Amino acid sequence: MNRTIRQGNTKVHAQELTQAPPMALTKELAKTSKRILTLALNALVLSMLLLMGLMLGACGGPQGGSGGAGSGTGGAEAGNGAGNGERIQIVTTIFPAYDFSRQIAGDKAEVSLLLPPGVESHSFEPTPSDIISIQNCDVFIYVGGESDVWVDEILASLDNSDLQTIRLMDCVSLVPEEVIEGMEDEEEEAASEGSAGAEEEEELDEHVWTSPRNAKLITQAISDVLCEIDPGNAEFYETQTVSYLGQLDELDAQFRDVVATATRNTLVFGDRFPFRYFVDEYGLDYYAAFPGCSSDSEASPQTVAFLIDKVKSEQLPVVLKIELSNHGIADTIAQETGAQVLIFHSVHNVSLDEMNAQATYLSLMEANVQVLREALN
Ligand SMILES: [Zn+2]
Repeated sequence: MNRTIRQGNTKVHAQELTQAPPMALTKELAKTSKRILTLALNALVLSMLLLMGLMLGACGGPQGGSGGAGSGTGGAEAGNGAGNGERIQIVTTIFPAYDFSRQIAGDKAEVSLLLPPGVESHSFEPTPSDIISIQNCDVFIYVGGESDVWVDEILASLDNSDLQTIRLMDCVSLVPEEVIEGMEDEEEEAASEGSAGAEEEEELDEHVWTSPRNAKLITQAISDVLCEIDPGNAEFYETQTVSYLGQLDELDAQFRDVVATATRNTLVFGDRFPFRYFVDEYGLDYYAAFPGCSSDSEASPQTVAFLIDKVKSEQLPVVLKIELSNHGIADTIAQETGAQVLIFHSVHNVSLDEMNAQATYLSLMEANVQVLREALN
């Protein structure tokens, strides 16, 4: 029951971002029923695949469908010694969890990321093979927010009592998604259009990883679980964790230094704003076109005018947008004000180029340090 209501409220993303016209309600509804259908289909395919899996029995092929590294080479069991020879399987929905896991686990675990490179996380739907890899893994890490609303139903349908799950939103103190002055407010629009969206339940902000302090808490949570389920390698995980937490501290110090020495304190995003935890952490002010996970693709003239006005009155040298963003709001603001457009990475996911260039949470956030410096000076 509750679930149905949530489904109805589900915000739908990437498609809308690419196909502009906001035929809002009908489209949302169509997309929602498509989503339900997909889930039902997935459940069906899942049960068939699980059956097949059972029939194939103990073949124990490496999971992860796509990646499939180190396939357990035939008779390796003997060589691996203690029945514990297999590497831990970690499956993650979004990039930060994937990156934190591999930083801690090194080669002791096989870590896979369900989101293909370049895919907008909010529009992602798991494939049957993704569901199989969740079913077969040891640790499944997900956000627990809007970018992976499908997770609850999948977890409820799985039959793996050994599966450890880590929900990123359980690792930190949460704050609600914020609608501030000048921002498009979907909820208000929905309410005035008389839709069921009027259910004013406060939406908690899911973008917990955008604060390096939170990244530390999440890293520690992952580390604790790994140590618990794989005590033989606990010492290794602990050493890796200490070193990685140190690097996150350095990142945090860099942001603090930029903010402390900056001449300005305000950011303008001609875009969605998934950085609530980040600005809270460093005491920054901001204005943006849409809240964190908004599916809106078009800003009203008033919103754009408001942001242009802010850039002008505060004489801001930079207007920001996020990665994988393809509406031109930031560019419009830049044209009107002469400000420069720069990308502030929200690290939901990485592009293929970034993946190939071995991008990490740290490398992307360090690029953000430079952008922040330009934006605040
Ligand atoms: Zn998001």
